[in-house]
Amino acid sequence: MNTIAVIGAGTMGNGIAHVFAQNGHQVNLIDISQTSLDKGIATITKNLDRMLSKEKITEAQKSDTLNNLSTFTSLSEGVKNVDLVVEAATENLEIKLKIFKELDEICAANTILATNTSSISITQIAAATNRAEKVIGMHFMNPVPIMKLIEIIRGYSTSDAVTKTIMDLSVKLGKTPTEVNDYPGFVANRILMPMINEAIETLYNGVAGVSEIDTVMKLGMAHPMGPLQLADFIGLDVCLSILNVMCDGFKNPKYAPCPLLVNMVMAGKLGVKSGEGFYDYSESRKAEKVAGQFS
Ligand code: NAD
Repeated sequence: MNTIAVIGAGTMGNGIAHVFAQNGHQVNLIDISQTSLDKGIATITKNLDRMLSKEKITEAQKSDTLNNLSTFTSLSEGVKNVDLVVEAATENLEIKLKIFKELDEICAANTILATNTSSISITQIAAATNRAEKVIGMHFMNPVPIMKLIEIIRGYSTSDAVTKTIMDLSVKLGKTPTEVNDYPGFVANRILMPMINEAIETLYNGVAGVSEIDTVMKLGMAHPMGPLQLADFIGLDVCLSILNVMCDGFKNPKYAPCPLLVNMVMAGKLGVKSGEGFYDYSESRKAEKVAGQFS
């Protein structure tokens, strides 16, 4: 695996590009938005600088990593001659189906097509291609350079050989891949999202405020971060999409998103990436609780 294309330079895409580039792969980072690409490269540079200041990498490793990265706004240019594509575009079925259909048409026959989707069916994405055996879920965790887990999801038709290639590659990236089957939410989000949704429901019902809910879960359950803050980091739009996929996929209303989550997404309060969610991330009020607004 020499050259890798990463599609989407947002929260996850820039982290995935960072990890591949730091491990010696040539990475083509692709996004429809030049602003996202610029922000993505700025984030990677900032994260490398932090690693450098903590002496986790050398100056040479920082410049090698940055030199391994190229950016593209054209999908066809960015996926030319790549061995693997990791798609990390917006969590939206239509967007992903369109991307995979196009990838199947333009990529070489042996290129493996992976998706970082949090919840959309790998089998459904694979069905948009004529290479279902080479389509696989590679679900990195946020923040990618730090988190060890990659949930590897086998679609209905994913081959043993492709699964082994991706498991081995993940180990070479210094990660711990864990193989799971393709059902809504896979394992990570099937367990995490009902907890986050219940935390939002608890806030919505006025049982407690934002920091009280997060404090109970942090100190009471030894979670490193409360569920509302975690939701802000994941992106409230991403949480909503995942819950909708699980609700539809299992035909079970227990996964129905809390109306407060729906409202916040409609209001553009998406968490860290929009500057405000359950907490305020604007420069002047970094990670301050949004006072009493939802309790
Ligand atoms: P994001 O909104 O931060 O970034 C998405 C990026 O995709 C944007 O820069 C957007 O411009 C770009 N994009 C949209 N359509 C595109 C297209 N057709 N071609 C190229 N680029 C396109 O989203 P994110 O949080 O990085 O999520 C990306 C994927 O990773 C989603 O599938 C999500 O479910 C998954 N994921 C997210 C998290 C998380 O914590 N945020 C964790 C694991 C997996």
